[in-house]
Amino acid sequence: GDASRVSAEGPLVLIVEDEKELRRFLRAALTAHGHRFLEASSVSEARMLATSHNPELVLLDLGLPDGDGLEVLAMLREWSRVPVIVLSARGREDDKVRALDAGADDYLTKPFGTNELLARMRVALRHRASHAASGEEKVLVFGEVAIDRARRLVTRGGVELHLTPIEYRLLSLLAEHAGKVLTHRQILKEVWGPTYASQSHYVRVHMAELRKKIEVDPSRPKLIVTEPGVGYRLRES
Ligand code: CA
Repeated sequence: GDASRVSAEGPLVLIVEDEKELRRFLRAALTAHGHRFLEASSVSEARMLATSHNPELVLLDLGLPDGDGLEVLAMLREWSRVPVIVLSARGREDDKVRALDAGADDYLTKPFGTNELLARMRVALRHRASHAASGEEKVLVFGEVAIDRARRLVTRGGVELHLTPIEYRLLSLLAEHAGKVLTHRQILKEVWGPTYASQSHYVRVHMAELRKKIEVDPSRPKLIVTEPGVGYRLRES
């Protein structure tokens, strides 16, 4: 078992990862940025540390020596909404989708750099904070695009865009989760309803129409980016 370690005053992060090299990298990155952390290298250690320390963020590897990281996620989601960022290998898109659908907040594809790690952590922590405060901003701005949610009005460069109700809901959903990836299934459930969860072509068709209206160059989207094999992410300004 790894000893729990505490440093500085930042949020308490639980690292669940069995690769020593990657743990060393995470340790260095978190220490340098004032995060406190605990380390687990197995499902059983993760269970123990999560229940005893109630971390504020979890970095979760999926392939662990005594089981699947998804077991840790399922256990956490029984009692906690703590942000969980999955650490996944390139080419394992199905794993990422499964983890996101099971309640993970985001994922990082190995290998990743310190800046990417910290940016994803900031997004995940901020989303939890804003949910907790439940103070929703009325106008969301992303580059040239502004979404006035009280008036259900969307403008680009100050000019009103005529979105269909589905396009508005798509954009609004992605904007609420700005910086976070949403899977096809999550988008379908939120916009169309749970019985449509397998109709992923709906998302592709309406996303294409939405991009024609909000993107400067719809063939090279800058605002809503595709995460291949996983879903979509609205970039923060
Ligand atoms: Ca592993």
